[in-house]
Amino acid sequence: MSAISLHPQVDHGITPTDPNFKGGTLECLCATNKVVVRLDSQTAYNHACGCTKCWKPKGAMFSMLSVVPREKVSVIANGDKLKIVDESATIQRHACKECGAHMFGLIENKDHPFHGLAFVHTELSPQTGWAAPGFAAFVSSVIEAGTPPAQMGAVRAQLRELKLEPYDSLSPELMDMVATQAAKAKGTLRT
Ligand SMILES: [Zn+2]
Ligand SMILES: [Zn+2]
Repeated sequence: MSAISLHPQVDHGITPTDPNFKGGTLECLCATNKVVVRLDSQTAYNHACGCTKCWKPKGAMFSMLSVVPREKVSVIANGDKLKIVDESATIQRHACKECGAHMFGLIENKDHPFHGLAFVHTELSPQTGWAAPGFAAFVSSVIEAGTPPAQMGAVRAQLRELKLEPYDSLSPELMDMVATQAAKAKGTLRT
């Protein structure tokens, strides 16, 4: 039993990844006329995120965020209910304007290392088998959402217990991807 409520998908044990899972649907939280998005792919890089921009369920300290190739996302029902949360943000988060659930996020800047990806929350899916979370990003940012700094030792300890290594930015692998793109842009790295 978890001492601190981090996110409903990890607080009662993490469901392992189904290696044969090929994708499924996401549904918004509206009781009727749900926005439905189909993902024709398993997700990757699933992680807990502590930033204040990602959508999270009520009462959760972290969001749960993963990615699919952007061309694998299609809106299959009630797309007219979607709106972009903040047009000026790097990630354009397409959310249901009635229930507020973020259905997918896209980076429209073609030079961004994550331009090819869509950010999704698989907890909105009725299917199971999606990629299990593997790390925690932007952990210190939960303080900005109201977590007392004195609680951070316990938060990080609980994440480690769940094998979600806590990072205060992205994971090293993802940070390397960002830096590689920057180095290529600057000409300091030639491949
Ligand atoms: Zn909705
Ligand atoms: Zn986030």
